[in-house]
Formats: sequence, structure tokens, C-alpha cells
Amino acid sequence: MKNVFIDHKKHADFSWENLGDIKEGRGDLGEDMPVLIYRLMQYTMLAEMSKDMGEEKANDYFRRAGLLAGQEFARNCLDLKLALNDFMAALQTKLKELKICIFRLEEHDEDTGDIVVTAAQDLDCSGIPVTNETVCFYDEGFISGIFYAYTGKEYEVKEVDCWANGNRVCRFKGGPVKLSSKL
Ligand SMILES: [Zn+2]
Repeated sequence: MKNVFIDHKKHADFSWENLGDIKEGRGDLGEDMPVLIYRLMQYTMLAEMSKDMGEEKANDYFRRAGLLAGQEFARNCLDLKLALNDFMAALQTKLKELKICIFRLEEHDEDTGDIVVTAAQDLDCSGIPVTNETVCFYDEGFISGIFYAYTGKEYEVKEVDCWANGNRVCRFKGGPVKLSSKL
């Protein structure tokens, strides 16, 4: 008989290695696929989760998944020991190379650690219908995860501009979670 507990635990412990050797596995088809298919998976998952738990909670799960993804991405694809400027340059290069977005650190307050970053031509929302809302919850988590992995501090990140609210780039504001706001 199947042990449900073990199966559950297996998927709760994410490991980068379990993403597999895509190059080896996909032979002629290779490592890339259209953004349409990424969006199809993302928005159908969001639709099904929203039906079950409501939009707010479903968005929150996307944010949490993004947080985990951002941490793992930073640990596995970037050098966390680089100085901030070099790290940002490496991050920008990697995000472009992987066709995730055109990333820019717009503002950084050295004293507080607060940041403003932009993501243009991003995977999640560029070109979607304008609905006067922000929709990049996964990216909010993803950016938090990268900054958490790099600084060791929990980051709270909010999207303020999005293709879906009529802008051409997504803009995110964030900063380390203040102790007082955690109490
Ligand atoms: Zn957006």
C-alpha cells in the first residue's frame, strides 16, 4: 500500500536536483518552450486554486512558491558572495539570459536596504489584458526570495506598477521586514 505521508513529504522538500537534466531528457526539443505554455500552466493553476480557496489565498500561495523559487534560483544560479553592484549585474544578466525579464535595480537605500526594482517584458504579465490590478504575486515572492538569499534578511516586496494596471513595466518596492511589523 502506498505511504501517503512519505509521498507528501517528498514533495514538500523541494530540491533543485529534482528538476532533472532537461537537456539530456528533452533531446531534440531542447530546453526552451513558448511563454504561452508557462502562462497556460500558471493561470490554470491560479484558476483552480482560486475556485477552491479564493483569489487572495491562491495569490498568497503563488507568492510563497515565488519566494521558494527565488531563494533556490539565487542559491543555484548566482554567486551570493559578490558585492551588491556585481550581484545586481549578475542577476540582471541571468534573468535576461533565461528570458525571465529585463531587470533593473532602480533605487537602493544603503541604510535601510529598501529597494525599487523593475521587470520589463516579464514572463507573467507582459501583454495580458489591462484589468487595473497588479497580478505578479509570484514575482513579488521571487524577488523577496532572491534578496533573502543574498542578504539573509526577510524582504517584503509589493508590486506597484504592472502591465495589468496599465504600465509597460512591472515595478516592485520592497525592504527588509521591520521587527515591529512582525509582532
Ligand atoms: Zn506585473
